[in-house]
Amino acid sequence: MNHLIEQLISLKLHGMAQVTTDLLADKNVPSLLTALPKMIEAERVEREVRRIQYQMSAAKFPHHKDFATFDYQASAIDKTVIEPLCTGQFAKQAHNLILVGGTGTGKTHTAIALGAELIQRGKKTRFFNAVDLINILIKEQSEQRQGSLVKRLQQVDCVIIDELGYIPFPKSGGALLFHLVSKLYEKTSIIITTNLEFSEWVSVFGDAKMTTALLDRVTHHCSIIETKNDSYRFKQSQQKALQ
Ligand code: ADP
Ligand code: MG
Repeated sequence: MNHLIEQLISLKLHGMAQVTTDLLADKNVPSLLTALPKMIEAERVEREVRRIQYQMSAAKFPHHKDFATFDYQASAIDKTVIEPLCTGQFAKQAHNLILVGGTGTGKTHTAIALGAELIQRGKKTRFFNAVDLINILIKEQSEQRQGSLVKRLQQVDCVIIDELGYIPFPKSGGALLFHLVSKLYEKTSIIITTNLEFSEWVSVFGDAKMTTALLDRVTHHCSIIETKNDSYRFKQSQQKALQ
């Protein structure tokens, strides 16, 4: 019997191997017709768990966040806006999302939690800090590898660009980001978090025409969520101070 389990493992059927061990340990060994559906289901579940684990690590989230720990009462973000997004339909339609507001207002939390929800629903997400993303694009260009990240991100369902506008980037970086956004347009959803109003985006990109063209693409199929200016952390520390 061990041989049977070893064969299943060598075929990478770990779910089946596990449940077969259990089935064989049963005093009344079940018939093939009873055992087979159980083995197939165990394999399906095992593969799904492994897929989620892999995609969660490939997403490169800086930390884990979910909506279970998100307090809508303490936020300007409306639950009725977030819930439909959690179905993942927006990513199917390459719909974009911009979270705009002050620091500490739950933008990154929401972006990560949404990205994780998409992974639970069979999709792929990649998280980038805006400046890190631009540095990767600049490095690629300097090493004559331009376009390889773009190609990879076109295979992903949702790209998160966090903290756009906190640090201005070189004009060449702005152009590379513009190129990336153009290539993802209508293929891959983009979630951008930013503290900047649209009128201020030109100050980060440094080029008015390019900024207009970028905004045109990003906002074409796009929901804008305003998180306002009340910092959650600040409110919490104030509450603690009053206790
Ligand atoms: P931002 O990206 O807007 O600067 P973050 O999403 O990083 O803000 O939020 C700052 C911290 O406060 C994080 O630890 C986040 O989990 C927490 N936080 C923000 N808003 C909420 C909320 N409504 N409920 C629970 N935690 C929140
Ligand atoms: Mg943030």
